[in-house]
This record gives sequence, C-alpha cells and structure tokens, in this order.
Amino acid sequence: MHVVVLGAGLLGVTSAYFLRQQGHDVTVVDRQAVPAAETSFANGGQISVSHAEPWANPSAPLKVLKWLAREDAPLLFRLRADARQWAWVFSFLRECTPGRTRHNIEQIVRLGSYSRETLQQLRRDIGLEYDQRTQGILHFYTSQQEFDAAEAPAAQMRALGCDRRVISADEAVRIEPALAHIRPQLAGATYTAEDESGDANRFARELVRRCEADGVRFLMSHTVTALREAGGRVDHVEATDAEGRFQRIRGDAYVLAMGSLSPLYAKALGIKLPIYPAKGYSVTMPVKDASKAHQVSLTDDEYKLVFSRLGDRLRIAGTAELNGYDRDLNRVRCEAIVRRVEELFPGAGDGERAQFWTGLRPATPSNVPIIGRSKLPNLLLNTGHGTLGWTHACGSGKSIARIASGLKPEVDFAFA
Ligand SMILES: Cc1cc2nc3c(=O)[nH]c(=O)nc-3n(C[C@H](O)[C@H](O)[C@H](O)COP(=O)(O)OP(=O)(O)OC[C@H]3O[C@@H](n4cnc5c(N)ncnc54)[C@H](O)[C@@H]3O)c2cc1C
Repeated sequence: MHVVVLGAGLLGVTSAYFLRQQGHDVTVVDRQAVPAAETSFANGGQISVSHAEPWANPSAPLKVLKWLAREDAPLLFRLRADARQWAWVFSFLRECTPGRTRHNIEQIVRLGSYSRETLQQLRRDIGLEYDQRTQGILHFYTSQQEFDAAEAPAAQMRALGCDRRVISADEAVRIEPALAHIRPQLAGATYTAEDESGDANRFARELVRRCEADGVRFLMSHTVTALREAGGRVDHVEATDAEGRFQRIRGDAYVLAMGSLSPLYAKALGIKLPIYPAKGYSVTMPVKDASKAHQVSLTDDEYKLVFSRLGDRLRIAGTAELNGYDRDLNRVRCEAIVRRVEELFPGAGDGERAQFWTGLRPATPSNVPIIGRSKLPNLLLNTGHGTLGWTHACGSGKSIARIASGLKPEVDFAFA
C-alpha cells in the first residue's frame, strides 16, 4: 500500500518510520524545507510518562480564572472572537470533572509507558544518538500545598505502572546535587527513574535519515492546500511546491499529522478535530559551568517549566497561551525564564547567549491525542499531542502503522 503522511514533525516522522517497517511505500509531505521545523523544533526534551496530569482537572477552572489577569500565567487564555477557541474552552471545562480527569490520566499514562518502551526498543534496534539521558525526571515543589496535592495523582500513576515516587527535599538534592542551592525553598519532589530526556529535533532528523535510506520519500517545501474526497474516501491531496507549482498527490491511505494545523484541513471533509494551538516558549543556552548545571531532567512546579540537559546545552521550556496561531516572542516571558534559571542554578548557563523560540502545541481539551481512523476509511489521524508529543511519538507512530496495516495496536488506549 502507498501511504501519504501529511506533516514531517515528530508524529509524521515516527508514523513514516513504522509504516515503512510494516512494508508500505511511504511519502511524507511538509511545507517546511527540513523536517521537524515547527512544534518539534525546540521543545522541552522530556520523555515524561510521569507528566500525565492533564491541564483539565478539578482544580483548573479556579486557577485559570485567577490567571486570566496575569501576563505571566502558566496557562493563559486570551479570549478572542474565535468560535473554535470558545468551543475548545467549553470542552476543556467538561474535562475538569474527577471522572474525566481519571480517565484521561489513564490514557496518557498507558500511551506514555508504551511509547517510552517503543523508543527504547528503537534505540536498541537502530542505535540513534540525540543527546539522550536516562536519569529519570525529578519534579520539584516549592509550595507545600502543591506538593501535598501531588500525592494523589502520583499514587494513581503508580497504580497504572508508572513508578512516580514521592520523595523528600533531601532525597531530591541527593538525586540532583545542583538543586542544593534552593534546598531551603524545597517542599519536596517526585521522582520517576524510568523517564528520560533528549533532543527531539535531533531525534526526528536522525530518524528521517534512516527512513530515507529505507526508501521513504520526503516532499519538503510542499504546502498542502486541501484534501479532496470522492466516493467517501480521500481521493488525493492538493499541494503547491516551493516554486508555487500545483501538485496532486495520491496514495491508498493518508495519515494526517499536521500538528495544530490538522483541524483546518479536516474540517472541509466534515471532520471536526477539537485541537487548538497552545503557544509555549523555550530557551536554549550553552552550559557555562558544568559543575553547577543539572544533569537530571527537572520540572519546576511553581513556574511550570521543564529543564533538560542536551549535551553541552540547557533547554528550558514552558508556559501555555491560547491565542490563536500567533507565534510572537514576548521578551518579558523569555527574560523571566532566563532569570529563573539563574535563580535556581546560578552561574550554570550562559544567559547572554540564550536562544529563544516559540511553538504551537496541538492541544486537545483532554490532553489525550487523536489517533486512529476517521469517518473516511482511508484517512488516519495522528495528531493533537499537545504537551506530550515527544513522549507519545514512538507509541503513536507504531500504533497508527499497525492500524493502517489492519493489525491490533499493542496498547490499551482509546483509539479514534
Ligand atoms: C514549549 C514546548 C515545550 C514542549 N515540551 C515537551 C516535552 O518536554 N516533552 C514532550 O513530550 N512534548 C513536549 N512538547 C510537545 C511536542 O513538542 C509536540 O506535541 C510535538 O512536537 C507535536 O508534533 P507534531 O508532529 O504533531 O506537530 P509539528 O511538529 O508541528 O508537525 C506538523 C508538521 O506539519 C507541517 N504542516 C502544517 N501545515 C502544513 C501544510 N498546510 N502543508 C504541509 N505541511 C504542513 C508543519 O510544517 C510541521 O512540520 C512541547 C511543546 C512546546 C511548544
């Protein structure tokens, strides 16, 4: 079968790899000149099965209301005259009940564990190098109240097989000595030893090289303009190439993996995808003094920032702003991140040489991605991965390849 994968981000690239492994002919189409150039470009780097608490949870509505007026809020809704945004917000509120939250955590942990195993197997199979670290993820708390509130979701994750241990502040410093500087402020932490980190962009580009060597075709600088239907199936995709020439691309099946742009193209086919862009920031800076820099991947609960060590660079990422497709860089937010790094690990990174980036997470109201068949039998969906697209990439890519091949996925997940 010839499968056309739309999008060469983490989800498109992993789909292409696993589809090829299943013996299909694969063509990937992307508007950028190189793969993984949009949301998969400079994310937080965490392979974080333990980061399974969805944004929508029983405490969210009150927090979000309080944050509405705060420019530096971790989750900021900039309400606009945009029907899609309002529909998303209402669905988000419906996902905040205890029952929905439990259900969503279950999906996120199951897919996360499977995905992490799939990534580890892939490393054993083809030996990819992408500044990976397998020292776990340590989530630290500076508020006693937030630390106490972490116990219940951590227990639920342990019951689901994700060993997120609750640990003391002293134990946190033993695991990551660079935290010693803020020991007096620490209320406690959780630690998930099996979690990992690594440069998602480097991973994607390495995997593209393997795919190309294996015969996968990449049509870069090709902008998809429409998916056309005939007889209840996708008949072809229309695109324009770098010179603006019109193209028709045909396959037997299609995988929609265009990140936060996916819903705009599905809509014309009568498929409503509840995905809205959630802008996030990242800062990358060279390590200045390795003895002061963290080694373990970290989550700073108070500032909702994640920290990864990518070789001789520090990557710090976070914040979420629902404000349409705007990718503007707010200097105030960038500088706040650099200040926080200096506050936590003084002298560790070279803030003068920091590089700033924003990306649009393809967010669903539940934080659960949309993977599986659509109402058109030859259109498959692998999109809406929000905050965890790197964590979930390998498991989602392998699952969609199995579904396309008529095989049962290997993970118990609410597939579409
Ligand atoms: C600040 C930040 C930090 C993050 N940190 C983490 C983390 O630590 N761990 C984690 O697991 N996840 C993290 N994520 C989430 C993760 O990066 C995303 O979920 C993931 O990159 C989404 O991948 P994707 O392939 O769905 O989308 P993308 O990477 O955006 O890929 C979609 C592709 O479709 C292409 N495309 C779009 N429209 C068209 C068109 N019309 N024609 C042709 N091509 C088109 C784009 O060019 C793009 O290459 C973070 C995200 C952000 C923003």
